[in-house]
Amino acid sequence: MKVEILNPHGYCAGVKRAIQIALDASNNTLTKRPIYLLGNLIHNKQVTSALTSKGIITIEEKNRTRLQMLDDIESGTVIFSAHGISNKVREKAKSKGLNIIDASCGKVLIIHKKVLEYLEKGYEIIYIGKAHHPECEAILEESDHIHLITKKSDINLLNINCEKIYVTNQTTLSSLETKEIYDTIQAKYPKAYLDNNICNATTLRQNAILNAKGFDLCIVVGDVMSSNSKRLCEIANSNNMASLLVETSKDLTDDIKKYNNILLTSGASTPEEVLNDVYNHLINM
Ligand code: SF4
Repeated sequence: MKVEILNPHGYCAGVKRAIQIALDASNNTLTKRPIYLLGNLIHNKQVTSALTSKGIITIEEKNRTRLQMLDDIESGTVIFSAHGISNKVREKAKSKGLNIIDASCGKVLIIHKKVLEYLEKGYEIIYIGKAHHPECEAILEESDHIHLITKKSDINLLNINCEKIYVTNQTTLSSLETKEIYDTIQAKYPKAYLDNNICNATTLRQNAILNAKGFDLCIVVGDVMSSNSKRLCEIANSNNMASLLVETSKDLTDDIKKYNNILLTSGASTPEEVLNDVYNHLINM
């Protein structure tokens, strides 16, 4: 069994920055206590527990939005995650008198700003994203004039009677699936302004998998909640490889031994040491 680690892998710039911001806040004795994270800083359990050990309390509950989870925070500091936040959440945090630290990724902020600008100009927005993902949730909370598309067939349900349509997307989607969705939207609304915003870190990782040759299995090390990690698995499948998402080496089973050439990579929110641990286990299998 041959195992090759694919480049690039590991933390993207937005994730590195978010982790550093949270650590700086906890190391700074002047930061108002308690320190809360509104939702997981990034989608990785190891990182969340490392931050917990630094005294940072993560508020995360399935089926509750960040706007709702903010009700649980009455004092101290709130850190916004790398996925970005809506203006409603920002204003609510301000009105509660909380100290705000924003770890939103710059790429996410650019898209958010563009959406607000086009809304201001009277556009209807078509947003391609994953329902309930925090990045998507933050955009949708801005206006009722934003139409979520999660898959190609959703486009049939769109009924927009407006000449001005701006189309954009979540940063961590599959480049292949998103292109298909954009093409279908363009066919339905030829005058729409299409603004594909899959981030560079996501594109580079997906392209590396698409260009890889001679592998029968791609193992992606990443959290089951990590959108970009799940998309890497889908991209591997489209390049005729089986794929497997593992959170840690504990998820490796003997079934893997039936593969001869394994490509190993990780999502943008996976610590390097977790990838290395999976690699060492594979080599020893
Ligand atoms: S995956 Fe892209 S958008 Fe998300 S945090 Fe990383 S650089 Fe930012």
